[in-house]
Amino acid sequence: MLPAIFVSHGAPTLPFDDVPARDFLRGLGQGIRPRAIVAVSAHWDTQRPAVNAVAVNGTMHDFGGFPQALYDLRYPAPGDAALAAQVAGLTGGTVDTTRGLDHGAWVPLMLMYPQADVPVVQLSVQRHLGAAHHIALGRKLAALRDDNVLVLGSGGFVHNLRRIAPPGSPEPEWSQEFSGWMHDRLMAGDEAALADYRAQAPHAVMAQPTEDHFMPLFVALGAGGETAKAARLHSSATFGSLRMDAYSFG
Ligand code: ZN
Repeated sequence: MLPAIFVSHGAPTLPFDDVPARDFLRGLGQGIRPRAIVAVSAHWDTQRPAVNAVAVNGTMHDFGGFPQALYDLRYPAPGDAALAAQVAGLTGGTVDTTRGLDHGAWVPLMLMYPQADVPVVQLSVQRHLGAAHHIALGRKLAALRDDNVLVLGSGGFVHNLRRIAPPGSPEPEWSQEFSGWMHDRLMAGDEAALADYRAQAPHAVMAQPTEDHFMPLFVALGAGGETAKAARLHSSATFGSLRMDAYSFG
């Protein structure tokens, strides 16, 4: 059975940036070959769950002020209407027949599966509903792992764009303390504490001011199932505090 996975996607320029997280994502795709992917990105935030169902995914360049080469990138992965309907059924979500993949989905997928030959369905987050909601949302998807479907959350393990620093800057202490607390609770499988991370984790509001980039982690945690074991697949930081950590569950 496939694990559920959370990855951090960092800056949109990741495909062009020579950083450890890029090499990690390239290797990750070589080790796992799902029949389809349910991608849960920070950049699709809706009032209630929504799932996209298209023949071929468009590539959304949902960012501004980057080099033209980034806007020229395309990731035309096929959709999977049957899987989208299944995910909508499991989550009580609506189906969106027009939306393609935002950069939170296609940036890591382009590194993992550069041929764009694995069908992808995207599921939205509801950041106003918090961690517990997303653990429950992910749990509804856990059975898909039996069917060789990869549940892939894509966000940021520490994500405060007002606090980023030039490349090569040391990681600040608050980021290390927050990440350390999260890592320990993830390893302990302490779902109750994780669901309450906003109150319990040190510097939680500093590390995740808007929460959108953290919710995909909880979807992956939930999709790992009730007895899931967490494993850290990658840990690094760019731009000082922009943590690029990745975990598997299952
Ligand atoms: Zn992002």
